[in-house]
Amino acid sequence: MTDPLANSYYAATAHPWRPRAFEGDLECDVAVIGGGFTGLSAALACAERGFSVILVEAASIGFGASGRNGGQLIPGLRWTASELEEEFGSERADALFDLCWRDNRVKARIEKHGIDCDLKAGHLEAAWTPGDFDAMKREADYLDTRFGYASDVIAKADMAAHIASPLYHGGIHDPQGGHFHPLNYAIGLAKAAEAMGVCILEDERVERIVDLSDGSSGLFTTQDIIEARYVINATDSWIGEIEPDLGRYTVPIMNYNIATAPLANADTLLPTDAAVADSRFVLNYFRLSADKRLIFGGGERYSQTPPRDIAAFVRPFMAEVFPQIADAKIDYGWGGAVAVTMNRLPHIGRRGNIFFAHGFSGHGALVTTLAGELIAEAMAGTVERFDILAGLPSRPFPGGKWLRRPLATLGLLYYAMKDKLG
Ligand SMILES: Cc1cc2nc3c(=O)[nH]c(=O)nc-3n(C[C@H](O)[C@H](O)[C@H](O)COP(=O)(O)OP(=O)(O)OC[C@H]3O[C@@H](n4cnc5c(N)ncnc54)[C@H](O)[C@@H]3O)c2cc1C
Repeated sequence: MTDPLANSYYAATAHPWRPRAFEGDLECDVAVIGGGFTGLSAALACAERGFSVILVEAASIGFGASGRNGGQLIPGLRWTASELEEEFGSERADALFDLCWRDNRVKARIEKHGIDCDLKAGHLEAAWTPGDFDAMKREADYLDTRFGYASDVIAKADMAAHIASPLYHGGIHDPQGGHFHPLNYAIGLAKAAEAMGVCILEDERVERIVDLSDGSSGLFTTQDIIEARYVINATDSWIGEIEPDLGRYTVPIMNYNIATAPLANADTLLPTDAAVADSRFVLNYFRLSADKRLIFGGGERYSQTPPRDIAAFVRPFMAEVFPQIADAKIDYGWGGAVAVTMNRLPHIGRRGNIFFAHGFSGHGALVTTLAGELIAEAMAGTVERFDILAGLPSRPFPGGKWLRRPLATLGLLYYAMKDKLG
């Protein structure tokens, strides 16, 4: 795959990685398609349970959203915990809370495998309007009283301790959230998976999956035919290319990031070194890298064509938040597709011997590792925790192959416009 958007800070600072040469058998228990967080986590967890695993990646490990995201580790899902409880009742809310807020599987993996990926604690949700701040305070109070999940409510007057921007009306600092170098995390998972015996094939695209007479699957790739008892489709934005029916559940929205040159005043911009995401519908999200650059994501494009100059596209959003670095030198600009579902909850499930997890809707840095592990758990026969995520409701976007994207875009433009009008 060629990638016009690959000028990323992450690619430039990635740890060396090359998959081991493979000359073995192309028959396995589990074939994983996609070398992002979901596929890597699933492959590693399957190998830990004794399955033989082959992972096939069309480009290179972390090529998709996993190697180019904002690196923000935000506990939970795109819905608040109180929204989940209101919709699904207290028992399911408890189960979802335990999985998606309390159990930080990324931290567990980093610790277990000693993955060097600049992990930092602390996430700040910054309120764009006073009304947003009121809603955040209510949710923080609910999380604390209902689940004993404590975070710090930061009044507008105290925001300067966290962020040198006059824009925000308060915020919630969650010490359980954080940030990391996503590509180095993906590479760390790949190394751990290989150490457990997973075979990783890069630059090899799966073109179709066929049912075999014994109930297993045949994967036809650009180079090989692989036979597997189970398949895990972890291709997120590309899922419809292999399974068109699953492709109806998401639309890809392009999102762009920049990294400034290292800044002498970096620590004054974000004194507590938290990752920040604001409450706009088309949100700004930013954090410092280990070498003191500001990594800033802002603005969405509903066209698949990238802006000619990504730095020029994102800079105004950064300048609005931090006018003091409006003219900072920008060393890197890149982008990627965020696979978004209708209701912003991930779509996870199983059809016969094929498992899938996609559509994390811009909130996948933490939950993808969990989803991969739960798929392995289900494959090994314990389905209860997998079923909690697989039971989240989902429905395809309306409009069929040609109208799906334009209709979804209209909806998104409406909310973006509301945002602008305040
Ligand atoms: C710009 C951007 C910023 C984001 N920021 C954040 C953030 O700060 N915090 C957060 O929580 N989430 C964020 N996200 C979302 C998060 O990155 C994703 O939810 C998550 O990485 C999805 O992981 P995945 O493994 O499911 O998919 P991916 O990482 O996209 O992996 C899919 C892989 O499948 C491979 N593939 C595709 N087709 C085939 C095929 N036919 N054969 C073989 N391989 C194939 C692709 O090459 C790719 O490597 C962001 C996303 C983007 C794009």
